[in-house]
Amino acid sequence: MKTALLFALLSLTLYADAHLFVYHRFGDSKHASTNVSLETLKKQFDYFKNNHYEVIPLSKLNQALKDEMDIPDNWVVFCIDDSYKSFYTNGLSLFKEYKYPFTLFVYIEATNKGYGDFMTWEQIKDTQNYGEIGLHSYAHKHMVSMSKEAIKKDTDKAFTSFISHLGYSPKYYAYPFGEFDERVQKEISSYGFDLVLNQNVGAVSSKSPRGDLDRIALTGDVNLKYKLRIKYLDAQWHSPKNYPDNAKLNEIHVTMPPSIKKAELYVSGGGWEYIKLKDGVFKSTKTYPLKFKRTRVIIKYGNAYTSKIIVKK
Ligand SMILES: [Zn+2]
Repeated sequence: MKTALLFALLSLTLYADAHLFVYHRFGDSKHASTNVSLETLKKQFDYFKNNHYEVIPLSKLNQALKDEMDIPDNWVVFCIDDSYKSFYTNGLSLFKEYKYPFTLFVYIEATNKGYGDFMTWEQIKDTQNYGEIGLHSYAHKHMVSMSKEAIKKDTDKAFTSFISHLGYSPKYYAYPFGEFDERVQKEISSYGFDLVLNQNVGAVSSKSPRGDLDRIALTGDVNLKYKLRIKYLDAQWHSPKNYPDNAKLNEIHVTMPPSIKKAELYVSGGGWEYIKLKDGVFKSTKTYPLKFKRTRVIIKYGNAYTSKIIVKK
């Protein structure tokens, strides 16, 4: 009994990671690839509730990361990207019913111009009674293709509009489409957001960088139990940092904890392959021709994941 308890405590400290989940549309089957049905959402909420997950506001995770606190394994954070109207009309009532907080990442231009599919400022203000609000850019464009000046202009406009409607500065930023490279990351980080969030597979531990937090998308009928098993893999990516000009990925260079001797690698368009590490360092010895505009490079060690997205300009 004592051993079992000790083991349970040990595994909690070894693998103490929170999960950030992203939703987009709610009960809106016209857009299946970004939608969660209300039946599935309720099932997921029941699962969290019955399995003692604690759904916390993003600000609580932010504070824990600032304080370099251990992150409890049962923490779950909900993000809602794009501020679609279906969140307000269909999804919000379930969040209210379960008293689950969330952060809504607003696509500012859609609201400013009154695009029909998106929430109004009045609705966004109302959601502040139940959740937090973050920034999801002004024009929701593919930022990797934008000039430095255009990125600055977009973010300045988003910032100003956010403040003029809500009366405070946004603290959290989520990249449109989850797409970024070294340059975009640098520009966005210059605004001093508390947290910048991507959409790469992974979990959040006390070692996670606040300027690059992993989030897992929950759309359609995902295997939630599997997603909740995902852990943070402490890794430094030396390359790739950007999409290679010739669409050939010649170098993957990642440092992980020295105890890791073997892991698995995935590059979009290929399958999983075993890789060997020396003193925690992995350097690829082959060339991966890139087939898609967006390529994910993922390394997994057991259930622990680290990943990169590289996007063609
Ligand atoms: Zn978006």
